[in-house]
Amino acid sequence: MALEDYKKKRRFGISPEPSGKSSGEKSQQPNFVYVIQKHRATQLHYDFRLEWNGTLLSWAVPKGPSLDPSVKRLAMQVEDHPVEYASFEGVIPEGEYGGGTVMVWDNGTWEPEVEDVDAALQKGDLKFTLHGKKLKGSWVLVRTHGYGRSSGKSWLLIKHRDQYASTGDITTEEPRSISSKRLLADIAREGGGDVEKAATGDPAPKSTKKKAVPSVKGGPKSPRRRKSAP
Ligand code: MN
Repeated sequence: MALEDYKKKRRFGISPEPSGKSSGEKSQQPNFVYVIQKHRATQLHYDFRLEWNGTLLSWAVPKGPSLDPSVKRLAMQVEDHPVEYASFEGVIPEGEYGGGTVMVWDNGTWEPEVEDVDAALQKGDLKFTLHGKKLKGSWVLVRTHGYGRSSGKSWLLIKHRDQYASTGDITTEEPRSISSKRLLADIAREGGGDVEKAATGDPAPKSTKKKAVPSVKGGPKSPRRRKSAP
C-alpha cells in the first residue's frame, strides 16, 4: 500500500505527525515493531500497528484489544503508516485528519506465527505473537465480510488461548501511556489540545464519596473476592 494514502490525508506543516520521509527502507532489526496508539479523535479507538515491509500495517480497533479469547474485536484496516509513527504521542490539531489526542498505549515487537506473512495477509488470516508490555502471547487477525466502503477492510482481532489470556479488561485496568505514563487528558494539556475531549477517553475518575465499605454480603466464603488495588 505504501504511504501515499497516509501522506494525502495529512498536512505536515500543521500536524506534528511524522511525514514518513524514510518510508520504504526495510528495518534492519530482526524483530518487527508492534504498537497500539490510543486515539481520541472523532471517536475513541485504538490504532493497532504491525511493522511489515518497511511500513506499519494499521487497523483501527474501536473497543481496543481484549485478552479474552471468546471476545472478537472489530479492527478496520486503515492506511499504512511510516515506521517512525510508532513513537508518536501528542496532539493532532482539531480540523486536521485524525484531529485529537494520541497516546502510545502499548509497544514492543511482534513475530509472525506463519511462514509467509504476505500470503497470510492476502488470505485474511494472520497469526502472530506479541511481545508488548501490556499485550503478550498469541493473537490472530482474521478478515471478515464488510459491506460497502468497509468491504475487504474489516477484520477481527482475537486473543488465542495461552498463559496471557484473561477475562480482565486491560483497556480500563491499564489506561496510561506505556512511554510517558500519562493519561489522554495529560497529553492534551501538555500539547495544547482539547483536554475535556481527551478526558472522555480516560477512565472516569474514581468517586471518592462512593468508595464506602465493600459489601460483606458473601462473607469470607464469597467467590467474588476482590483483588487488592495495585
Ligand atoms: Mn487513529
